[in-house]
Amino acid sequence: MRVLVLGGTADGRELAAKLEARGIDVVTSVAGRTSRARSQPGARVGGFGGVDGLIDYLRASEMDAVVDATHPFAARMTANAAQACVATGTPLLRFTRPSWADRPDADSWTWVPDHAAAARAAAKARGRILLTVGRQPLPAYGGLPDVLARVAEWQGDPIPAGFRILESRGPFDLDDELALLRDEQITMLVSKDSGGDDNAAKLDAATSLRIPVVMIARPPLPDGIEQVTSVDKAVVWVTAVGGGRA
Ligand code: NAP
Repeated sequence: MRVLVLGGTADGRELAAKLEARGIDVVTSVAGRTSRARSQPGARVGGFGGVDGLIDYLRASEMDAVVDATHPFAARMTANAAQACVATGTPLLRFTRPSWADRPDADSWTWVPDHAAAARAAAKARGRILLTVGRQPLPAYGGLPDVLARVAEWQGDPIPAGFRILESRGPFDLDDELALLRDEQITMLVSKDSGGDDNAAKLDAATSLRIPVVMIARPPLPDGIEQVTSVDKAVVWVTAVGGGRA
């Protein structure tokens, strides 16, 4: 069988490797926003050209199934995949790592629906804000006077006044995060609910140092999409769709 994995995430890479190990024909697709994504071996790189482009692609490549393993905040790709899969009758699974909303400290955070609301919440803080929301949304935080923005890859975009950029790719451990929060005298952490364990140590560190957290909730999923939060469950779903055949 042939499966399209919409990737750009570590989860997508892990899923593709596990499916290939079972002899399944996998095409991984990445948008190509980072050098790591662009250099992923064997991946197709770049957008499909909206819903219509994806419909054409799914038909031409005779995909049996699609697993949307994009980042939880890649809402446009997720919406496009949902529409294109309905239009072509292609089975679709959404696979994301588990949300941080179930952590015991999640109730102590200020949850907001989007970056604009996070920027408004951050504007009420005194002192230095650590932003861990990725590179693309940073302009929404322009105007905050004292920001350390940690990003996996900086691509030369203009840096808003009052910002310093810390280019650093996780995973980070608790000691790293405690040291960063202390050394930089951080008074608020702004993050988005990427979920999973790899990037969660900053939350443990903030809780331990009683630093307030503003957390951007995940965008809602389109209706009617089956979702799993583990690679193994995604593998089971693909295998079942293929009726057990590779
Ligand atoms: P987005 O806003 O949902 O998507 C914008 C457009 O980028 C889509 O309409 C599509 O273009 C193209 N695209 C996105 N993912 C693609 C994929 N896997 N394969 C082919 N085209 C794709 O996405 P985004 O938030 O900019 O994220 C882009 C990529 O970076 C995603 O693959 C995501 O997994 C990864 N990523 C995102 C974040 C994040 O915080 N958003 C964090 C880490 C990694 P067309 O309409 O032309 O098809």
